[in-house]
Amino acid sequence: MESRASLSILALLLGLSQALYLTQPDGEDMTTRILTINKGSSELLLEGDILAKRSRNALVCLYNNCFWKKSSNGLVKVPYTLSSDFSSSDATVIANAMASFHNKTCIRFVPRTNETDYISIKNNDGCYSYVGKTGGSQVVSLSRLSCVYYGVVEHELNHALGFYHEHVRSDRDKYVTINWKNIDPATTSNFDLMNTKNLNTPYDYSSVMHYGNTAFSINGLDTITPTPDPSVMIGQRQELSTIDIKRINILYKC
Ligand SMILES: [Zn+2]
Repeated sequence: MESRASLSILALLLGLSQALYLTQPDGEDMTTRILTINKGSSELLLEGDILAKRSRNALVCLYNNCFWKKSSNGLVKVPYTLSSDFSSSDATVIANAMASFHNKTCIRFVPRTNETDYISIKNNDGCYSYVGKTGGSQVVSLSRLSCVYYGVVEHELNHALGFYHEHVRSDRDKYVTINWKNIDPATTSNFDLMNTKNLNTPYDYSSVMHYGNTAFSINGLDTITPTPDPSVMIGQRQELSTIDIKRINILYKC
C-alpha cells in the first residue's frame, strides 16, 4: 500500500495524469463523459480520480494512519457529511451505496457529529476521492452531473477506505496487456505498475475498481486487454465485487 502511494506521489510530482475512467451502472461506457468532467476539475487528480494534497504526502500512508480505526465493538466507523447540494434522491443513492458496505463488511458510514476525521461528500467538479484516511476533513466529490450512481459512489467510497485501481496492482501483467500505443501519452502514468499488497486475493477483472478496456485511449482502441481471454468483462461500475468485499474485510479485519 505504501509503495503504491509512493508511486502515485511520484506521478503527482511529475505533474502527470489528469483524466478519469468510469463505466455507467447500466454498462454503458462512461469514459468520455467523466473524463471530460474530471479534466475540467481544478483539482490535481492521480489515476483519473484520486485526489492528492499538494502540501503533504497524502498517499504515503504510515500504515496505521491511513486506515479508519476500528471501534471496540469491531465496527469501523467512517463519519461523513453530505452537502446540501444533493437532492433527496441523490441522498438515497448515496445511502444505498453506503448500505452495501454495511451489509457485507464491518465498515459503517455514519453521519458526523464531532469527529475530527471524516469524509465530506460534495457536489464538486468531478468524481474523485483521496485514497485512505488523510486525517481531518477529506473530500469525496460526487458531481451531481455524472457521479451519483450506486456503483460509482461505491467506487469513490472504496478509494476513501484505502483501495487503488485494480489494473495497477503488482501482478497485473499476468492478467492484462496494457496497449501503450493506444494510450494518450499525457495519461500514461495512469497505468504505472505499482508494488501493491494484494491481500492474498486473486486479480479481479470484476472489481468495481478496475478500469475499462478503452480507458485513456487516444484512438478508441483498447488500452487494457484481459489475457488470455480478451473477452473477459472489465470496468464494471454496477457494484462491489465479491473480491472487493473480501478485501475490505481482510484489510479491516472485519
Ligand atoms: Zn477511481
